[in-house]
Amino acid sequence: MEKSSILTVFIVLIIFLFGCGNIAKEQQLEQFIDIHVAKVEPLSTQANLAYWDASTTGKPEDYERVNKLQLEIRQIYNNPLEFAFLKEIKESGRINNAKLARQLDKLYYAYLRNQIEPELLKKLVDADNKVQEKYNTFRGTIDGKKVTMSDIYTILTTEKNLRKRELAWRASKQVGDVIFDDLIELVKLRNEAARKVGFNNYHTLSIVTGEQSVEELDRIFDELDGLTSEPFARLKNELDRILADSYGIAVEDLMPWHYHDPFFQRTPLVYDLDLDIYYKDQDVKELAQKYYAGIGLPVDDILARSDLYDREGKYPHAFSFEGDRNGDVRILCNLQNTERWMETILHELGHAVYSKYHDRKEPWLLREPAHSFTTEAIAMFFGRLSRNAAWMEAMLGLSESQRVKIEQVSEKYLRFQQVLFARWAMVMYNFEKQLYSNPDQDLNTLWWDLVEKYQFIKRPNGPVDAGWASKLHFTTAPCYYHNYMLGELLASQLHNHIVHNVLMLESDKDVSYVCRKEVGDFIRKKVFEPGAVYHWSEMIRRATGEPLRPKYFIEQFVQ
Ligand SMILES: [Zn+2]
Repeated sequence: MEKSSILTVFIVLIIFLFGCGNIAKEQQLEQFIDIHVAKVEPLSTQANLAYWDASTTGKPEDYERVNKLQLEIRQIYNNPLEFAFLKEIKESGRINNAKLARQLDKLYYAYLRNQIEPELLKKLVDADNKVQEKYNTFRGTIDGKKVTMSDIYTILTTEKNLRKRELAWRASKQVGDVIFDDLIELVKLRNEAARKVGFNNYHTLSIVTGEQSVEELDRIFDELDGLTSEPFARLKNELDRILADSYGIAVEDLMPWHYHDPFFQRTPLVYDLDLDIYYKDQDVKELAQKYYAGIGLPVDDILARSDLYDREGKYPHAFSFEGDRNGDVRILCNLQNTERWMETILHELGHAVYSKYHDRKEPWLLREPAHSFTTEAIAMFFGRLSRNAAWMEAMLGLSESQRVKIEQVSEKYLRFQQVLFARWAMVMYNFEKQLYSNPDQDLNTLWWDLVEKYQFIKRPNGPVDAGWASKLHFTTAPCYYHNYMLGELLASQLHNHIVHNVLMLESDKDVSYVCRKEVGDFIRKKVFEPGAVYHWSEMIRRATGEPLRPKYFIEQFVQ
């Protein structure tokens, strides 16, 4: 044979062998997925429905049923042999089919997160329960008298007596010192679990198994820092003057307890406008129903299955719920005709339409949002409308002068709130990263270093306590907070894209999307239907033509 034909045979042989290898691997994976989904799908539907029962009735036996089913699901993902199988397939690099590869990633990370030995898992669960129990049963005190968090909020938003303010603020933080040792113990156990599966600490494990990267988050948060630092300083200087005047003190003497929130994560009420007066004679449920129908995303079926009003024993907040990934989508609310509940129902229905419109022809494992922050982004995108003057004008039939009045105050409030939240999210993100990288460092000092750096708030004199640990997220939702910020960024990026490329407008002035069916069509096709078929960054690039960037959040709220 000539040299060239030998080469040809050789190449054909290689293609044949590797091709077959790939097909064999893909078939193995497909089989695995079929068996896995047959086990997990009914269990997760049962667990979801049990959770719905528990939340609507408050009965302990329903909560027990939820725990039992969730444990059964966890045991599936805990299986070391199945994990080894997935790992081997993933490392072989032989899955060419894009949808299979996405399902493999989802499975691989879900198993990876759960590869904890039973003994360590028990320690983790015990430590977690211990912190939560202490947290839940502790009440802060003012002058020896026990107070609730809602007492504290009332004092921080209304009290002029500075001593009372300081005591209330300190009372809100007392639980930090009480749980500090147990929380650090929990952090170290989480790190131990992460190291066993090859990560340097639990923070990195959480980010990577959440299909994100620490480098990318660092880049986004650094950029956000640069872009918000100066505008935030300006807004805060103005606020500080107003606050100092209201207490009759100098700006230099403002301390953390002079702001209206224990962590300065919400805008003080000095710019707030009572929007409830516009909603009190309306029906927020009907408004939401009418609005979503107008943009071509009807929610009648969702509302018919939902639990909307306050009742004894029922979960007091709100959430969106998906039973089975086949259209059983509901929301739980405790509606009142106020601005806050208008925002909440728009927000929860945002999550709900995302789930409702996943393409049901896609594999079960990919029939979910691209990421938890992408569904948060959609919920925020719609929730923001309850304070949008143009939206209120169109939906509530307000007059031109009422709209202008709302616009003047509401825009300033919204801008401040968004910039403030970005600065606060930077504290949370950077603190948690360092908490897990070295839990033995002087964390109390580190906390105040970051608060001074990002929030421009002075630390109190004297030794600093572990007040930071009173933020419940460190215990119950570790290494997750950054996703709220990413949600805000994506909501703004989608808003920008829709304004310029879907509605073809020059600017977003007075944009409310009311009755613009093309807005619903765009979001449904580009975001809802694909679900998790694409990695979140790919989904965003396909929808908006760009990767996720802080730029549009800055354009919408900062400039
Ligand atoms: Zn949400």
